[in-house]
Amino acid sequence: MIQNTGISENILDLVGNTPLIKLNKITKDVPGNFYVKYEGFNPGHSMKDRIALHIIEEAERQGILKEGSTIIETTSGNTGFSIALVSIIKGYKCILAVNSKASSGKINMLKAMGAKVYVCPAHAKADDPRSYYSVAKRLHEETANSVYINQYFNQLNSEAHYLSTGPEIWNQTNGELTHIVAASGTGGTISGVSKYVKEQNPNVKVLGVDAFGSILKKFHETGEFDKDEIYPYRIEGLGKNLIPSATNFELIDVFEKVTDEAAAHKARELAITEGLFTGYTSGAVVQAALQYAEKGYFDENSKVVLILPDHGSRYMEKIYSDDWMKEQGFFDSQTEEAPAVEYI
Ligand code: PMP
Repeated sequence: MIQNTGISENILDLVGNTPLIKLNKITKDVPGNFYVKYEGFNPGHSMKDRIALHIIEEAERQGILKEGSTIIETTSGNTGFSIALVSIIKGYKCILAVNSKASSGKINMLKAMGAKVYVCPAHAKADDPRSYYSVAKRLHEETANSVYINQYFNQLNSEAHYLSTGPEIWNQTNGELTHIVAASGTGGTISGVSKYVKEQNPNVKVLGVDAFGSILKKFHETGEFDKDEIYPYRIEGLGKNLIPSATNFELIDVFEKVTDEAAAHKARELAITEGLFTGYTSGAVVQAALQYAEKGYFDENSKVVLILPDHGSRYMEKIYSDDWMKEQGFFDSQTEEAPAVEYI
């Protein structure tokens, strides 16, 4: 046994306490100071490590999880990876029902972490037996001694961010932040962080990010479920075609929608200008922050925290692939040329 306080007991000790990094170039043309909470620094490379650990440890505390139990979840990839990671260390089986929008790289990663993966059609409505919700529910019913994490409808999701991400942001900014910009999928991150931060200072504005093709912004504004808002889009993990109870809409001041194309280009720009290699929704968050800036939300004194949900390595076959960008037509309307690669 090595006596060294610098050694972690296991990988789970490293969940959370992610860095807050100032943006120096990408926001230089708009007023305000911008800082990113880079969740790709978590050991599972996304903020979902926080909820996986919290929900699983809460189930342990309640005696629901026992040795050899199976943990089941629906996921666009990140939550699955995090649950698989926690399951390995704690000795649980992990079954994941994923949306077919998830990249093959993400699915391979889940397999590498010992999970059993079911890939379900992205276009299936929530009540379709082939949807990832229905598949997860069925597997839960069929598997003895199993726990269904159900992140979209689990209050422990936002509680994880209330207990960790929120206090971290508050402390890292000495309580001086004025705005938060965050993506909303399950709504766990934005709701949990908002609850904590607004409890400390109710004047902090929480600015949500939604996708074109998602219901969240319209629902937030009208309280109505407008089916016309829903259509397919590319960004994984952002927006929704149903109303997740994990989202507390009252804690979100406003939503802004971003396009698939603008978010993809902004993620690439973030890598090239700031050296921040992040996921697709991080591009969406930066794009939304710039849109909010254009609409006059910030001034010179604003201290804006952008939550960047995950690392870029999961998107090599998507936004970081020039072929994929071309296939989507994302190089057509932009002046940016595909960076050249020469084969010798
Ligand atoms: N970005 C990515 C890459 C995600 O996987 C998710 C989770 N669906 C989100 C953003 C949204 O976070 P939350 O579910 O906490 O709203």
